[in-house]
Amino acid sequence: MKILLLGKNGQVGQALERALAPLAGSGELVALDRSSGGDLASLQALAETVRQLRPQVIVNAAAYTAVDKAESEPEQARLINALAPEVLAKEAQALGAWLVHYSTDYVFDGSGTRPWLETDATAPINVYGQTKLEGERLIQAHCTRHLILRTSWVYAAHGSNFAKTMLKLAQERERLTVIDDQWGAPTGAELLATVTTAAIGQVSRAGSDSLAGLYHLAAGGETTWHQYASHVIGRAKALRPDFPWAVQDIAPVPSSAFVTAARRPHNSRLDTRKLQAAFGINLPGWQQGVDEMLAQVLTSTPSK
Ligand code: NDP
Repeated sequence: MKILLLGKNGQVGQALERALAPLAGSGELVALDRSSGGDLASLQALAETVRQLRPQVIVNAAAYTAVDKAESEPEQARLINALAPEVLAKEAQALGAWLVHYSTDYVFDGSGTRPWLETDATAPINVYGQTKLEGERLIQAHCTRHLILRTSWVYAAHGSNFAKTMLKLAQERERLTVIDDQWGAPTGAELLATVTTAAIGQVSRAGSDSLAGLYHLAAGGETTWHQYASHVIGRAKALRPDFPWAVQDIAPVPSSAFVTAARRPHNSRLDTRKLQAAFGINLPGWQQGVDEMLAQVLTSTPSK
């Protein structure tokens, strides 16, 4: 199977490059970043790249993910998160290829406490969420064979994310204040890559077009940023008691304690039953992947 992966250097992109290689098998996995022909800001060049490579599957892990910066760069965010996916959708349609794309819990307004269903009304409260939602709609409008996977709170051993920031701050500060009124599920890039690979394996079989659609894909369970930080730091201290931990107190605070350019939803819970049923996949609790990531990050770091 010939697979084109875009955004190979991101958290999810790196995990996908490893996971997709065996699936591509004797076909070919072409993994690009913005400097190797996969620049999503150059729409014409992007279309040309797809036309030349003629993949059977396009996996788009590239995105404009700077949530606060997007408030002051809405056109750039829209270009990467909506207009480039539209180009990919049209090119995939012309080839009869599958397009796999990632979206976000930020398409919702965060009201209520119930996990969001794929059929729930969207109402993004920031520019990033608006551009990601537009990207979803353009893909749905232009490409029949699409999988749009909405996820939340992504982390990986490589790249920048909340868990790694907490590990750093816990060695620098005695007191941390962490938001306790936003709920969601931390989801590992490794889990996203594993599930994506399994889903592509299923949809690429003949007669699987009915699996096309929008799915919620997040780890199981729910937590707040405060509980998540407490879990990460507690686990890290147990794994590496030799590290110079400074933190004594992890204090819960409301979202209003932090002033950010972009508003964030309070309720980011995603109901994943549709995906689990359609693909026969069981999603593990969020702690499992976090603990694996911590073991990877911390055991490869020498003590100070
Ligand atoms: P990252 O920020 O880790 O990776 C995004 C990648 O996109 C980077 O490698 C970046 O390249 C690349 N990129 C940005 N602009 C361009 C461009 N113009 N051309 C080519 N590549 C570009 O994001 P994640 O891996 O965490 O996110 C993967 C997907 O999951 C995205 O669709 C995101 O919207 C979604 N998602 C992420 C969440 C999160 O918490 N991170 C939560 C919910 C959904 P470079 O390194 O060169 O900047």
